[in-house]
Amino acid sequence: MIELNKRQERILQIVKDNGPITGEHIAEQLNLTRATLRPDLAILTMSGFLDARPRVGYFYTGKSGSQLLTDSLNSLIIKDYQSIPVVVTESISVYDAIVTMFLEDVGTLFVVDKNSLLVGVLSRKDLLRASIGKQELSSVPVNVIMTRMPNITMCTKEDLLMDVAKKLIEKQIDALPVVRETDNGFEVTGRITKTNITKAFLSLADSSY
Ligand code: ADP
Repeated sequence: MIELNKRQERILQIVKDNGPITGEHIAEQLNLTRATLRPDLAILTMSGFLDARPRVGYFYTGKSGSQLLTDSLNSLIIKDYQSIPVVVTESISVYDAIVTMFLEDVGTLFVVDKNSLLVGVLSRKDLLRASIGKQELSSVPVNVIMTRMPNITMCTKEDLLMDVAKKLIEKQIDALPVVRETDNGFEVTGRITKTNITKAFLSLADSSY
């Protein structure tokens, strides 16, 4: 989303009142040259406020800033924002899972079976909870404490980021595995977390993200 400057606001108003109107005529009303206006018109067109038709001119799309923001949010796709997943096998110990979580610097681990198919999820709190007990952490396998299939919330790389954001909030979880369905189960191909969603949000305001 962009913030419009004074001149862009004035152009928008002129087109609202007089559109369809040519660039030439907009320039006349502002006592400026067509060339001076070109960058502003490009910005207004690219950001969806105005539409341009050859030989007709510019016209107002009727979309408000918040509608345009909604449009952009609803066009974001998981595959453009996902991270690399960190997976562990179901036989590793709670101790090793904790070490992996620190080394890989993630808050959620995905657990797979020997065929690399998703069987569980381990969050920070799952590992903390297991650590409160009196068990020997290096002898407890993660598959006794993980959240397991079929209770795992997943998504695919083609899903809308907004739908995944809703799932994260509704289920009160921090991350989802991005999966590919096969005949035997789900392969983990990515990871989408609240951090990825926050980055996507920033990317709408600042293209360097
Ligand atoms: P934390 O435990 O650090 O607060 P979460 O809120 O992500 O992290 O996890 C809360 C619980 O939900 C944990 O028991 C975890 O195993 C489970 N969980 C996390 N992600 C998922 C998921 N994608 N699908 C199902 N359950 C999940």
